Amino acid sequence: MKSFDRQRDIMIREHLQVRGISDQSVMKAMCEVPREEFVSEQFLERAYGDHPLPIAEGQTISQPYIVAYMTEALELRTTDKLLEIGTGSGYAAAVLSRIVTTVYSIERVSGLAAAARQLLKRLGYTNIVIHEGDGTLGWPEHAPYDAIVVTAGAPKLPQPLLEQLAIGGRLVIPVGRSYEVQELIRVRRLSEDDYRSEELCGVRFVPLIGEEGW
Ligand code: SAH
Repeated sequence: MKSFDRQRDIMIREHLQVRGISDQSVMKAMCEVPREEFVSEQFLERAYGDHPLPIAEGQTISQPYIVAYMTEALELRTTDKLLEIGTGSGYAAAVLSRIVTTVYSIERVSGLAAAARQLLKRLGYTNIVIHEGDGTLGWPEHAPYDAIVVTAGAPKLPQPLLEQLAIGGRLVIPVGRSYEVQELIRVRRLSEDDYRSEELCGVRFVPLIGEEGW
């Protein structure tokens, strides 16, 4: 088996660059995070394949290309405050934390939240704060956010997340009528009550479960 560093280089070139990821800060972040640490032991050999993989509790770690694509779509600046809904393995939070000042991340499954917190601490990430709870309600305490990313599929745009977006902020979220397939949407808050949304591409995420979700 090729070393993980070598596999990571191949992933960057073949799955990200070739498919059009061009933001250098995103590329650098994807280079820096050791994806193999976020994957369960039995899938280590497939850590750098361009596909999602199962994690505990019937959830998944997203495919590298989608993590990069969503990160790029957020149009991040280094000074941004970011909220992620769906910590899962903590991988996307780790990637995001290489670009912005602080990542706030919410996970509804307590076992996953605890495992991600422990792993990120062990790996030395100090600008990620994880909260266990229903992310469809956002995290009002730290709002407003310059960027919000949801890594689970929603039936509709959750109102609390729209409200917690800063003016000029971006929300990237998979939205779909069915449980399994969604359209990735980017919403920009232009002013107090003016939002503009655009469809980016088709995606497949596990369901967003909660008061403003399924
Ligand atoms: N970003 C993750 C992908 C996780 S999959 C990673 O990089 O590994 C989606 C996650 O969203 C799952 O862990 C699921 O438990 C969580 N989730 C679903 N509904 C949620 C909600 N309402 N609030 C917070 N997390 C939620």
